[in-house]
This record gives sequence, C-alpha cells and structure tokens, in this order.
Amino acid sequence: CNAQGSDARHEKIFVSVRLRPLNDKEIQSNDFADWESINTTTILFKNGLGERSVYPNAYNYDRVFGHDDSTRKVYEESAKEIALSVLNGINSSVFAYGQTSSGKTFTMNGIIHYAVADIYDYIEQQKEREFVLKFSAIEIYNELVRDLLSIDTNPLRLLDDPERGTVVEKLTEETLQDKSHLLELIAVCEAQRQTGETSLNEASSRSHQILRLTIESSARSFGGGNSSILAANVNFVDLAGSERTSQTLATGARLKEGSHINRSLLTLGKVIRTLSKGKNAHIPYRDSKLTRILQNSLGGNARTAIICTMSPAHSHLEQSRNTLLFASCAK
Ligand code: ADP
Ligand code: MG
Repeated sequence: CNAQGSDARHEKIFVSVRLRPLNDKEIQSNDFADWESINTTTILFKNGLGERSVYPNAYNYDRVFGHDDSTRKVYEESAKEIALSVLNGINSSVFAYGQTSSGKTFTMNGIIHYAVADIYDYIEQQKEREFVLKFSAIEIYNELVRDLLSIDTNPLRLLDDPERGTVVEKLTEETLQDKSHLLELIAVCEAQRQTGETSLNEASSRSHQILRLTIESSARSFGGGNSSILAANVNFVDLAGSERTSQTLATGARLKEGSHINRSLLTLGKVIRTLSKGKNAHIPYRDSKLTRILQNSLGGNARTAIICTMSPAHSHLEQSRNTLLFASCAK
C-alpha cells in the first residue's frame, strides 16, 4: 500500500505511531519489548535483526513516539496543528487507532484536554472576532449511534441534509458557555462510556467515540455591516479496538456482515487508504455510520491526523504488525 503517484493537491494524512511502556502485567509475566523508536520517524523491530523474515524490521511514519514520550509531546507534534485548523474554518479529525489496551483512550483524553486549552487561549486573545462553540458526542456500537450527552440510550438515525451533509437526528448539541462547561461535558461522556463498559461486556473495546467541537466565528461588527461566518468542526475519535478487523484488513478480504466484524472500522480503513492514494477513486463513505458522520471532516480540504497506538509486548506481536500495516496504508 504505498501511495505512489499521489496527487499533490490532496492534503496528506498525518500518521504517527505511539509505543506505550510495558505494563505491570506484561512485566510480571516475563513478557518483553519487541519494538523501539530509534528516532523521531522510525520504529524498529528489535528482535528480528539477523533473522530472515517476510516482515521489514524498520518502519517509517510522519512521527514515531517512544514509550517515554509524554502525551503533551504527542499532542504538540502530531495533533495540535491539525486540530487547531478548526480556528481557521477548516474541518479536522484526530483518530486513535490500535488494539485494545494499546493506549487509545489514554492518548485521546490527553489530546482533547490540551486542544481545549489551546482553543480557549486563542479565542480569549481574539479581539476582532466573536466565537460560538458547540459540543456534541456520540458512540457507535454495532452500527448503532448513541448520544453520549443524553440519558436516552435509543439509537439515533442519520439523515442527509442538502446543506450540512449527513446529520445525526435529535443529537444533543450544547452551546458552550466557557471552558469549564466543556470540560464538564467531556467528563459526562467519559462516565457514560465507562458505565457502558461494565454493563455491556466489552462494549467499550468495540465502540467508537466521537467528540465534536463546532466553532463558528465572525468579525465583531462595530457600527453595523454584515460579516461572513466561518464555521468548522474538529472531531476527536477514539476508535474501537482494531483486533477484530485487522486480520481482514491484512488479507484484503471483503467486508462481511456479522457482529464479529466492525463495519465502521473496516470502512474507515478503506476510506483512508483511498484518500491517501490521492486518486479520484470512489470513496466508500456511505458504507458505515462512522465514515458517513465524518465525511465532511475527512478528505477534501479537511485535515486528518491518525495516531496508531501500540503495545511493545512480544505477546502482542501479531496485532502490532497489523497496526503498523494499517499505519503504512494510511500514509
Ligand atoms: P485502549 O483505549 O487502547 O484500550 P487505554 O488507553 O485504556 O487503552 O490504555 C490501557 C492502559 O495502559 C491504561 O491503564 C493506560 O493508563 C495505560 N497506558 C496507555 N498508554 C500509556 C502510556 N503511553 N504511558 C503510560 N500508561 C499508558
Ligand atoms: Mg479505550
């Protein structure tokens, strides 16, 4: 999946890989690290040197973060510029992709908090423009869309709006008063998702969470005159664990119906691979709920960052290779 002959007009997807440290359980079971980041763009399979293998030992991405790199660093050097482009009216999405327990939620929660702080810092400094911020949050589980800001757990329908594209019907959209209001709502979403985790077995590893911040701005009018409104959104997407789809992705098998395969995650992979090739090919946005909802924030003028999180543990070797394959295809 290399993107040869890619069209220069297409804004590249920024692909990074983040290696987490070995955790206590892995250390106690005498597991060991296979992978190491050897510079800011290269990850190395340490235990394959000198061996013949069908797999390469070194992989390059836009950015590689090692086990001791902080989430702030990950934010600053992979997501910040893309997330903050929303302030200039450009839609954007930041994704965390990887197997369960690789660090997706850990990474995405940190990034959201840094981005929110930067967005409010910027807005408070702007004297010439006026801003309206709105927040919404959904979870997609088994292709059912649920509002994370509502106690109503009934699935929501998607509608095609001629002007706004795909919209989620009856979705709660909170107009934000200030930063603490936003942080409160984010905490509500985190709690909602955790409840799901205990009541629905494995639900959190199989669901996608999208937190969306919409920012509208217009020039402050001193003495009348109408000014145009800039509006865009930034999506923070904590994806379902990749373990159930990666095998299918690796072999290029066709998308199948069935609860064991996550349609949204597979379609996202296809959409991203098609976009990264930069050709005018058909992009299958409509094949899943996730990609329909994110269509306006993927491709076109939109900016996208994907952070692929990875466990260094040898016991996760196969999943880690699949994650790197996904990351390579997205480049
Ligand atoms: P996922 O969302 O991919 O299932 P989590 O983000 O829940 O994984 O991470 C699994 C565990 O590993 C959590 O306890 C988390 O705090 C820890 N963890 C993940 N990434 C890191 C990291 N880079 N540094 C330290 N701990 C981490
Ligand atoms: Mg998680």
